[in-house]
Amino acid sequence: MTGNLLDVRTLSRNFGGLKALDQVNLRLERGEILGLIGPNGAGKSTLFNCLAGNLRPTAGTVAFNGHDVTRMRASQRARLGIARTFQLGKVFPSMTVRENVLTGLGVARYGSFWRSVTGLVKGADHMDRAAEILRQFELEDQAAVPVTDLPMGFQRRVEAARAIATNPRLLLLDEPAAGLTHGEAERFADMVRGVRASGVTVIVIEHNMRFAMQLAERLYVLVQGRIIAEGPPDAVRQDPGVISAYLG
Ligand code: ADP
Ligand code: MG
Repeated sequence: MTGNLLDVRTLSRNFGGLKALDQVNLRLERGEILGLIGPNGAGKSTLFNCLAGNLRPTAGTVAFNGHDVTRMRASQRARLGIARTFQLGKVFPSMTVRENVLTGLGVARYGSFWRSVTGLVKGADHMDRAAEILRQFELEDQAAVPVTDLPMGFQRRVEAARAIATNPRLLLLDEPAAGLTHGEAERFADMVRGVRASGVTVIVIEHNMRFAMQLAERLYVLVQGRIIAEGPPDAVRQDPGVISAYLG
């Protein structure tokens, strides 16, 4: 299929008098790893919420894979292939690592998150696919451990593994490196590259400029709800507006 995987046009979201997103335009090609960077409060998570269907925009449109998804619920968008992680993490802490991944596989089958939880399927095909995903995220040794007993670096991977289990076309990662050690962040970056190699397009939000610059091929810079720069990391790094937004 031709055209962009994602086409966001003049997207705005207000909270009372605050313009959290102000006429954002963003294009994403299939197979890209796109970085979305910007200071705290810039509107990055709000943009993900509007892409995944957790929030309705005040104005503007979101087209995904040829569908206008602007008014669709999150569960409908998940069925079309949008998966995400959350900035503060969203796993089932008392479930094991494997069970968390199985809930994601249930979403792929049923389309609804809650139906997947209540109907946790453990058929042979699901178990095989879960094992494959656990391997991909280097979680085999932790498969039977409740997520709550694992350090942060593992919990981030469990959440990403659960998202990949929904079989998405587009994966949205909200600050996946936050709270990780340098080594953990590097390994996570390798896993993201593996995800892309398997055919999934990725947008990664990062507060950590260095992590974003080494992972993403193209960056958008969001400041106070507006995109102030876009392009390859080397060009964005030297952009005077970006430098003053980060230093000023
Ligand atoms: P970022 O992820 O870039 O740090 P956010 O998207 O979380 O920024 O927030 C952008 C702005 O919108 C902030 O000023 C934040 O306080 C505000 N905001 C985000 N979500 C809400 C909400 N649900 N209600 C009111 N204000 C919000
Ligand atoms: Mg955020």
